[in-house]
Amino acid sequence: MIRIVSRQKPNILKTTQGLIMEAGMNLGLSGDQIQKLLQADSVHQFDIKLGSGKKFKAYRVQHNNKLGPYKGGIRFHPNVDLDEVQALATLMSLKTAAVGLPLGGAKGGVAVNPKSLSSEELQELSRQYVRHLQPYIGPDKDIPAPDVNTDPQIIDWMVDEYEKLTEDKTHASFTGKSLHLGGSEGREAATGRGGVIALRELLKYESKTDKKLTLALQGFGNVGSFFAVVAAEQPYWQVVAASDTSAALYNPAGLKARQLQEYKNCGGRFSEWKNDNSKIIDTQDLIKLDVDVLILAALEDAITENNMTDVKAKIIVELANGPINGAAQEYLTSQGILILPDIITNAGGVIVSYLEWLQNKTGEHWPEAQVNAKLEEYMIKAVAEVYKTATAQSQSLKEAAMVIALKKLVSN
Ligand code: NAD
Repeated sequence: MIRIVSRQKPNILKTTQGLIMEAGMNLGLSGDQIQKLLQADSVHQFDIKLGSGKKFKAYRVQHNNKLGPYKGGIRFHPNVDLDEVQALATLMSLKTAAVGLPLGGAKGGVAVNPKSLSSEELQELSRQYVRHLQPYIGPDKDIPAPDVNTDPQIIDWMVDEYEKLTEDKTHASFTGKSLHLGGSEGREAATGRGGVIALRELLKYESKTDKKLTLALQGFGNVGSFFAVVAAEQPYWQVVAASDTSAALYNPAGLKARQLQEYKNCGGRFSEWKNDNSKIIDTQDLIKLDVDVLILAALEDAITENNMTDVKAKIIVELANGPINGAAQEYLTSQGILILPDIITNAGGVIVSYLEWLQNKTGEHWPEAQVNAKLEEYMIKAVAEVYKTATAQSQSLKEAAMVIALKKLVSN
């Protein structure tokens, strides 16, 4: 289900680069080393012109491939621009490094509102995107995946186009494909599931596992809805609020995640929800709720100077990329609020993408239980490393995650 929201231009590149500079200086990196981490290896910018005459700006930024082939999603959204794509590519390099994957970081995007296109135009756009980038991508060079407003259907068109151009039959050129084209079991739910594992592990370290916990969830798209569905399996957790762009639902007795997911998949809007006695409140009011954990699963810059003082939760899970800007990070941390950082928390998607790529390369297809077990392993290890580093160095989890990632990106 594709849903477009207009939003203020976020400052995610500034936030990401600020985090790198700070962590780099704390680590004693040289100016040259920091500069290299701030810059992308290659930037591809081009126009895509459809047969109908519609024209769009398109991008692929390959940030760093020190640890392996570039890896990162493709976003279709009207607000996509070079700064945003570069920031997201940088976050991918940090993420793959932080969770120990043999992959680099990249990101792509097209400044388009896919809702304004017919299905034929969307297919033409997806195929043209691949034709422009074909020399620079591939199973051992750069492996794109879906992101906001791109789905397995779009990736299937892209794989097909790549194969026509190169005769590569491995299907390992993209991840996030449909199952019949070599997609992995468990990929769709992976980012949400990874977020649940990350929070569960943090609670273990914080000795909060046998306590009832209320959660509020901003954003109920692919990532947020699966987070809610998997979170419902945790015995002490209760998701009491969730929002989409139309409204937030609040129910102190707990929301029914699976039912809400089905409703959203059929095009429902929370502002029109009538299936139980959940209260409909303003989207802006979700972060003001007095809950234990706030999950941010919508888009970047959800919490800034404008609303940071509204937060009441003691733990925030960054499930979206860059949902808290620099000033808000500083303020919330000073208030003793624990922030589970995006480069760890939402790595489930790229971890299972890596597993999909491995399956394609070896011609295997693993059952979902095997995929989920591997995902657990990576997430548990990543949270342990971040928590231990943060405790040992008296750092925030965010700083610790950055330090772990940067060390891997600059080591010989
Ligand atoms: P999506 O488009 O499926 O979902 C985003 C949802 O957020 C939409 O339903 C939208 O209506 C909602 N939303 C937007 N602004 C909102 C607001 N102000 N209040 C409430 N809801 C709002 O996208 P997604 O794939 O779920 O991705 C969400 C975030 O997670 C993005 O930052 C993305 O980069 C990141 N992410 C996604 C994946 C993945 O596997 N899909 C992996 C890592 C990170």
